[in-house]
Amino acid sequence: MTIRRLPETVINRIAAGEVVERPASVIKELVENSIDAGAKRIDVTIRDGGRTFMSITDDGHGMTADELSLAIERHATSKLPSDELLEIKSLGFRGEALPSIGAIARLSLTSRADGAEDAWTITVEGGDVGAVSPAALAQGTRIEVRDLFFATPARLKFLKTEKTEQSHTVDTLKRLAMAYPGIGFVLNDGDREVLKLPACGGPDARLDRLAAVMGRDFRDNSLAIDAAREDMRLTGFAGLPTLNRGNAMMQFLFVNGRPVRDKLLYGALKGAYREFLAYDRYPLVALFLDILPDAVDVNVHPAKTEVRFRDAGLVRGLIVGALKHALAEAGHRASTTVSQTALGAARPQGYGGGYGGGGSYSGRGGMSSGLRERADAFHRPLPGLDTQPSAPAQAGMDEYIGDYPLGVARAQVHETYVVAQTADGIIIVDQHAAHERLVQERIKTALDSGGVQRQGMLIPEVVELDQAAAEQLVARAGELAELGLVIEAFGEGAVVVREIPALLGETDIKGLIQDLADDLAEVDEGLALTQRLGDVCATMACHGSVRAGRRLNGAEMNALLREMEATPHSGQCSHGRPTYVELKLADIEKLFGRR
Ligand code: ADP
Ligand code: MG
Repeated sequence: MTIRRLPETVINRIAAGEVVERPASVIKELVENSIDAGAKRIDVTIRDGGRTFMSITDDGHGMTADELSLAIERHATSKLPSDELLEIKSLGFRGEALPSIGAIARLSLTSRADGAEDAWTITVEGGDVGAVSPAALAQGTRIEVRDLFFATPARLKFLKTEKTEQSHTVDTLKRLAMAYPGIGFVLNDGDREVLKLPACGGPDARLDRLAAVMGRDFRDNSLAIDAAREDMRLTGFAGLPTLNRGNAMMQFLFVNGRPVRDKLLYGALKGAYREFLAYDRYPLVALFLDILPDAVDVNVHPAKTEVRFRDAGLVRGLIVGALKHALAEAGHRASTTVSQTALGAARPQGYGGGYGGGGSYSGRGGMSSGLRERADAFHRPLPGLDTQPSAPAQAGMDEYIGDYPLGVARAQVHETYVVAQTADGIIIVDQHAAHERLVQERIKTALDSGGVQRQGMLIPEVVELDQAAAEQLVARAGELAELGLVIEAFGEGAVVVREIPALLGETDIKGLIQDLADDLAEVDEGLALTQRLGDVCATMACHGSVRAGRRLNGAEMNALLREMEATPHSGQCSHGRPTYVELKLADIEKLFGRR
């Protein structure tokens, strides 16, 4: 057996294996270097998804000739002046990126140090270092990387299509750009600008940048977060629950200006939104945690996207607390996306122009045939319109319209929606969703004030389940009783329901028990049911609600509106769907070309 010291190039290729997974990892390292160098503008170009060519040009402080040749040496860095790993304030610190990239690709660095007369350049190709020679560059640094992985062909095979690799680069740049709104970023794919984010300034710089990356909806439907605990501070923006997605792609987390993907942080988000969103929906958030450098370890993995906290519980507590507080304060603000969508759908047919633009309003002169058909239909009584008990909803209420945010009920339509008039618009309430939210809040309030009132069943109902599910339910019988639901085992694989929460009213008991069993299957055995109270309440509420399809009279409708106003979070049901939408008169007038 012979033990030998590996040559520098091999060592660098091994390191590259961890740092450089794909073109986007090169871009990440190089753009981080530009940010650390104080750049105000960073231009990135990639060809073939980055495989054949990548360049990064910045206007940062640059490097002298001596610094250039040091920069490409292994473990050479300007960012750890004191040898103290606990004081990392820059994005880089390992001094590994440049030598690693140089070991597996053709790398060239050209730079002009601040105030220097000339620029210099150096190349490293598959580990072979060239001489430093004079070059032309007005300022800053320009780095080019060609033929990624040419020196380690096995790696090439793992690259995905050009499109996929490019989208990884776009994602990487977006994340960094969100953390540094004051820097302008441009990504070019050789043919065109794929991403252009001009530098943002002023008090709203961060939100401006977030909106540029995450979409305008986020600007209009997010809550500012600013909370501190001990030496930590959490800032950023959290989306309203009504603005949600089917995956976590729009959840961005930063620790000390560093984009991270961290299980603990994602878990905290889930916890904070649990009561407002269905299990498989994800809110949009961009949160920035600033924490003393010695309370977090970023040196977990060479790619530096994972972190370890000294006190993970404290971090989680800060995030969950801050978000819940903000969401509670937001009260029953429904998202504007919802009413925008509604307005979009309500646009008259043939209306070609944008809002208020006049456009080609085909209904103006002669009626289009489609419109005429609809006009005819309008004169016939609409079958679903419930005119009987609810119009006018409640005489004598009109004078109060201005007093109520959700207005006065005018009608119930399709036995599902309550239409109310407010001082300056119309509210449409989904009665089932709204009622579900109200029942959930009532159960929680009752729990807080000593217990949920129960109502005995005249004839106890037996519900068949599979054996495991029945056992799980029975094991929780004590906890369920506190929530107002009394059940007992009934032979093998069945339970008998003796009492239900009084406030549920008429209840679909089989459905309720089945769904509760499903909920419990997801709850860890060690976890108290009260920790999943939101879910359980939502399930109960769902089966006891004023379901779509029940007729409400005027008094009932107004009572529903008043209770919604008084109830926190009533703007969305527990599955994150809105409970009501509001159409402002001004917008409606635009629809009809009156404005
Ligand atoms: P690290 O960023 O961990 O220090 P790198 O290998 O990425 O390691 O870079 C090595 C050094 O090269 C940096 O510490 C920095 O001094 C210098 N450097 C790299 N890129 C730039 C740049 N764009 N502008 C100025 N200096 C740079
Ligand atoms: Mg670096």
